[in-house]
Amino acid sequence: MKKFLGIDVGGGSVKGTVISKTGKIYFQSSIKTNPIWTNEEFLENIKNFIFEIKKNTTFEKIGIGTPGPIDLDSGVILKSANLPNLKNVNLISFLKEIFPIPIYFNNDSNVASLGEYFFGIDSKKKSLFVFTLGTGLGGGFIFNGKLYNGIKGNGMEVGHMSVIPNGAICGCGQKGCAESYFSTSGFLNRYFEATNIKLQNAKEFFDLVILNDKDAKEVLELGVETFSECIRAIIYILNPEKIVFLGGISKSYSLFGKSLEEKVRSKIFPVLSENLIFAVGEDFAGSLGSAALCFEGEDD
Ligand SMILES: [Zn+2]
Repeated sequence: MKKFLGIDVGGGSVKGTVISKTGKIYFQSSIKTNPIWTNEEFLENIKNFIFEIKKNTTFEKIGIGTPGPIDLDSGVILKSANLPNLKNVNLISFLKEIFPIPIYFNNDSNVASLGEYFFGIDSKKKSLFVFTLGTGLGGGFIFNGKLYNGIKGNGMEVGHMSVIPNGAICGCGQKGCAESYFSTSGFLNRYFEATNIKLQNAKEFFDLVILNDKDAKEVLELGVETFSECIRAIIYILNPEKIVFLGGISKSYSLFGKSLEEKVRSKIFPVLSENLIFAVGEDFAGSLGSAALCFEGEDD
């Protein structure tokens, strides 16, 4: 059976999995990401990581997912919020010179969506939309088994859809983006605005929600309201069969999911709601989705 290497570059770690199309895992490994890596250090570490995996097993293709924005055509990471020293990294041409096998590339949200399509429970739908709820708010759309990329791989950047004109400032420089209200950075920034207290992560925020902290609950409520507008717009444009939530924040789905689903369903045509399924995806590694980039053209 053919083996494929999937690599997922995240803010905290780089994960690698060698897998078959049927989901059999042959090898897994990871290294820590250093947030101050320069372009050269980043490339050197990725190269050495792949060599280390190669010592343990074989693979015929490589799929790699990285934070964006990216240029899919030229295989370049334009920049990354989690690795701020990276700029215009010629990742794919660099790797192709060292590893003379097919190499596929996409952004992290798209790769996570593809992973959900291939390996999620009952997610092989005609049209599947995936929201990645982490530091930022990302999205990916799979239609008839294919990822929708946009021109250069940056389609479905749903976190930057405007939900409140002239609203809170976003990391992208614009105001009122969905990500400013419903993401870890959004929750922490809105909470800081209300209380002057700097929380460290989403867990601290949701712990306060559980403790009935008034400000945390208000921030979450506004987040749910604005995110429901974002989801509503996606449903009207794409009419998906299934919407799946992935990422760290989805672990706290019990604290907001019911209210979010009800809000969305109350704002859309019944015909759109009747056949729509909401689900929380399993937390399998994005590296599986990266490996799934290699599946195109491969038989089952
Ligand atoms: Zn934005």
